[in-house]
Amino acid sequence: MAHVRVNNARKDYGAFKAIKGVSVDIRDGEFVVLVGPSGCGKSTLLRMIAGLEGITSGDIQIGKHIVNELAPKDRDIAMVFQNYALYPHMTVAKNMGFSLRLKRMPKAEIDQRVGNAAKILGLENLLERYPKQLSGGQRQRVAMGRAIVRDPAVFLFDEPLSNLDAKLRVQMRSEIKEMHQRLQTTTIYVTHDQIEAMTMADKIVVMKDGLIEQSGSPLDLYDRPANLFVAGFIGSPAMNFIKGSMTNEGFRTTDGLILPSERSPPTAVTYGIRPEDIKLVDDGIEVETVVVEPTGSETMVIARLGAQTITCVFRERIRAAPGDMLRIAPAHNAVHLFDESGQRIDS
Ligand code: ATP
Repeated sequence: MAHVRVNNARKDYGAFKAIKGVSVDIRDGEFVVLVGPSGCGKSTLLRMIAGLEGITSGDIQIGKHIVNELAPKDRDIAMVFQNYALYPHMTVAKNMGFSLRLKRMPKAEIDQRVGNAAKILGLENLLERYPKQLSGGQRQRVAMGRAIVRDPAVFLFDEPLSNLDAKLRVQMRSEIKEMHQRLQTTTIYVTHDQIEAMTMADKIVVMKDGLIEQSGSPLDLYDRPANLFVAGFIGSPAMNFIKGSMTNEGFRTTDGLILPSERSPPTAVTYGIRPEDIKLVDDGIEVETVVVEPTGSETMVIARLGAQTITCVFRERIRAAPGDMLRIAPAHNAVHLFDESGQRIDS
C-alpha cells in the first residue's frame, strides 16, 4: 500500500499544454476519481502516474519514492484499461497469471494468487475459458483479476466500464467498490461520468483544460461547488443557472422576476438551484410547464421562468400538462450564488 503525491506536474506535447501544474495528494488506501470532460487531461495525468507518459516538470511520488524516472514495471502499480487488452490465445487463468510468470514466480504461488483473485471476482468457473467465450463484464473482471494478482501498491483504472452497457456498468461499479473495500488498495480511477465519480469515490478531483477545478468528497462537491463549472458538472440533471443581480428584495432575474434568497451578497450575478431542490409551494413563483417526464419514482418538469428554461425534479407524481402553471420555490438553504468570475460566494 502507498500514498501517491503529484506535485506541480506539467505535461507539454510540443506547444500544447495538456497538464498545466497539477498537485494532488492521495492517501494510502484512498479511492480517488479523476473526472472531467473529454480532453481535460485526466487520462494523461493517470498515464503520467503510471509512467506511460513522461512528465515535463514537477514530481510524482509513490510511497517513499519519487518515480519520475522509473519505468512503469518498477512503480508497483497495476493498470486496468478500457479495452481490457486480454491475450486472445490464453485462457482466463493464463491471462491472469501472465505478469507473474514473467516475474518467474513459482507456479504454486501463481496458482494460489490466481485462485484468490478468481474467488474475489467470481471467476472460479471460467478459468479455463478463452476471452472470446466471455461476456463483456466477465472480460472486464479478468482484466481486474490481472491487476489484483500482482498485489500492487496502487491500482490505476482508465475508464474501465465505458465499453459495458448501462446495467452492467452499475453492477461493475459496485463490484469495484466492494473489491476496494476488501483489498484497501490505493486506487486512482479515471472517468468522464460524474455519476460513476459520485458513487465510487472517497475523493473526486474535477479537471478542466489541464487544471484542477476542485477536489473533495462527493458530497462536498455537490453541496459546495467552488465555481460554475463544478456546479454544472456534478449533479444530474445539471444545476439551473439563472442570470441577474442581487437586490434588497431578493435576486432579480434579467427579466425582472424576483427569486427568493436567504443571503444577499451584492456581487452575485448567477443564481444556481439544483432541479431536486425546487419544491412546489402555494405561494411560490409562477412558472409555465413545457415538458413533463414521469419516471415512476419522480417527475421531471421543464418549465419557463420568464424567458429562461429551468429543470425541476419533484419527488412526487404531479399532474401537469404543457402550458399549465406551477408555483415553485427553492428548498431551505439550497440556493448557490456565483459572482461575475463564476466563483462561488459563500458568505
Ligand atoms: P477523454 O475522456 O476524451 O479520454 P481526457 O481528459 O482523458 O479525455 P487526455 O487523453 O488526457 O484527455 O488528453 C488531454 C489533451 O492532451 C487532449 O487535448 C489531447 O488531444 C492531448 N493529447 C493527448 N495525448 C497527446 C499526444 N500524444 N500528443 C499531443 N496531444 C495529446
